[in-house]
Amino acid sequence: MNIPFLDLKAAYLELKPEIDAAISRVLDSGWYILGDEVQAFEAEFASYCEANHCVGVANGLDALHLAFRALDVGPGDEVIVPSNTYIATWLAVSQCGATVVPVEPDERTYNINPGLIEAAITSRTKAIMPVHLYGQPADLEPILAIARKHGLRVVEDGAQAHGARYKNKRIGSHGDVVAWSFYPGKNLGALGDGGAITTNDAGIADRVRVLRNYGSRVKYVNEVPGYNSRLDPMQAAVLRVKLKVLDEWNDRRKAIADDYISSFRNPQSSSNVEFILPFVPDYADPVWHLFVVRHPRREDMQNQLSAADINTMIHYPIPPHLQQAYSGLQYNAGSFPIAEHMADEVISLPMGPHLNAEQAGVVIEALLGFKRL
Ligand SMILES: *Cc1c(COP(=O)(O)O)cnc(C)c1O
Repeated sequence: MNIPFLDLKAAYLELKPEIDAAISRVLDSGWYILGDEVQAFEAEFASYCEANHCVGVANGLDALHLAFRALDVGPGDEVIVPSNTYIATWLAVSQCGATVVPVEPDERTYNINPGLIEAAITSRTKAIMPVHLYGQPADLEPILAIARKHGLRVVEDGAQAHGARYKNKRIGSHGDVVAWSFYPGKNLGALGDGGAITTNDAGIADRVRVLRNYGSRVKYVNEVPGYNSRLDPMQAAVLRVKLKVLDEWNDRRKAIADDYISSFRNPQSSSNVEFILPFVPDYADPVWHLFVVRHPRREDMQNQLSAADINTMIHYPIPPHLQQAYSGLQYNAGSFPIAEHMADEVISLPMGPHLNAEQAGVVIEALLGFKRL
């Protein structure tokens, strides 16, 4: 039995009649940029996220980038970012001409360690950027308290956390602005690129709305040098269909995560020694975008699973500070040892709303077998 890492086609097929109808509706409307479909999705997603405003943009990186533009973050400014994240988090800051100031993660949660943030603040610091990595909320309360104390903005990267809750409130408006990606593999994924910001700040929403559309509110009247970064109405229509099943699909992910965790924790399996399982703090209701375990012999594990036709991935093999793209910052191996250590040991197991219990069982058996080698 081949076990895919994530089955995107199955996601389409489950919703095929609704998705096909939504796309036809856009085709028949004769309106192909912004418009009612985008507006309707924005209202529905804002409400889902418990936020006052949502603005759809072209992708997740643009959502992050335009959030910083709306906050006037630019050259000379510093933004505190996690050392352990997908490179888009950093690129958004760099694209504004601002400087990334990496802070190491908590080894248990993989998210930015709030206890290390204050030491990284300087007179140039403008914002703190927590990432809710793997679908688990970062510890927002202490981060927001530090931001208030130092007069900083908080821009959250929610690209992996659609539906997650921090202290019973959905990710979407804890910080000044939250950036979302609807890349197909995300928990709420389009059939192409898409992104959005959510915020409770009407001013920020307004600025992003203008920036995404050539800096224009009225056609051919340009207030600021903006961008072309609009959410496609076809994708908005698809996202409206998928938003309706997001909670149900997140619940399916949770059932698999529960199954993985209880199987690997079973004392009789003796497997709890070498695996490091995900840790869920009391404040978090994660949505299991990824199910990441750690093992010192990660390559061996991946090879053995692959021989059993089980597909896994590494999120992420090279931390941003060691990427050639950031060689200009002059970091090297040892600059951020915790992020580097995570990169060497993490492995993401198959996870998604279309992984059935039988398939999860095959993954579990294979992993318990790996331990016995
Ligand atoms: C996917 C992702 C992004 C970027 O999203 P795109 O839509 O691919 O531009 C940003 N941050 C994180 C943490 C992501 O996982």
